Amino acid sequence: MAPAGLRYPFAPPELGAATEVAEGVLWMRLPLPMALDHVNVYALEDGAGWCIVDTGFDSRKSRALWEALLAGPLAGRPVTRVLVTHHHPDHIGLAGWFQGRGAELITTRTAWLMARMLVLDDQPLPTPETLAFWRGAGMDPALLEQRAQERPFNFTDAVAPLPLGFTRIAEGGVVRIGGRTFDVRIGNGHAPEHATLWSREDGLVIGGDQLIPSISPNLGVYATEPLADPVADWLESCARLARFADEGQLILPGHKLPFHGLPTRLRQLIDNHHGALARLEVHLATPRTATECFPALFKREIGPGDYGLALVEAFAHCQHLWHAGRATRTRRDDGAWLWQMKA
Ligand SMILES: [Zn+2]
Repeated sequence: MAPAGLRYPFAPPELGAATEVAEGVLWMRLPLPMALDHVNVYALEDGAGWCIVDTGFDSRKSRALWEALLAGPLAGRPVTRVLVTHHHPDHIGLAGWFQGRGAELITTRTAWLMARMLVLDDQPLPTPETLAFWRGAGMDPALLEQRAQERPFNFTDAVAPLPLGFTRIAEGGVVRIGGRTFDVRIGNGHAPEHATLWSREDGLVIGGDQLIPSISPNLGVYATEPLADPVADWLESCARLARFADEGQLILPGHKLPFHGLPTRLRQLIDNHHGALARLEVHLATPRTATECFPALFKREIGPGDYGLALVEAFAHCQHLWHAGRATRTRRDDGAWLWQMKA
């Protein structure tokens, strides 16, 4: 039997409005100042208040939109809990702000530690380790020179301070929200210890950026953990989570549209990377730096706005082939790694 395609039962809500996607579950959007111009957030009825899922960036605009949502679709009832799927700023940005207004923060230990560490790590300029990592990835020398003088993106630019204290969720755990019992299953690769929540009652699945339609989440290596293999982590997570996927589930993703068809989608998310790795194997018949692999990996021109994400993703795919024992790497005189397939 041919696998069913993806189905999208709802059109996106306007900014400041909400769409009910399941009983007691509202879908809302907040703007992002990037090519991916929105993040999805959800509010689940939870006793006398709401449990919200993810928050958007901390910005004046996001706070004003939340005020409008709280007074409008959320009917003035309090946000008692904030569940954060992973540590990225578009998801955890306003968690501390909600905590300041009395909400409990629920997330994984790694997500909380990463966010709390990064929010305290003020960097006026890129660290020497980051510069060395960019050089290792073969960043264009003129761009490297320019970025070395510029203040990099700091978590504090888009994430409110996180007060001490959170409630941990972990693989195999359970969270009760309103009338639903959710099983917690952890994914990796896009963000370490990314939570997904699977309702036992009605097939509602909170997917964050782990379970997402139409865009493939960024898998990147950074100076923080330069030998990481996020491609392996991602492929392992997709295969493991696929065991729990069925056609009837409604997936609530962190971006784009709620969808049915998770078994198909997980297959696509795996195949995308196998396809990219196969193209890379051909491309690495001759030794190349990670940035020289953009044409093989991305089917579009990489502009200045995409360069950073493309660099960490290209590095991740080269390094995956090296971890798998299929490629070698050698340092060029300028510090860049050259990757090449073994004969
Ligand atoms: Zn993310």
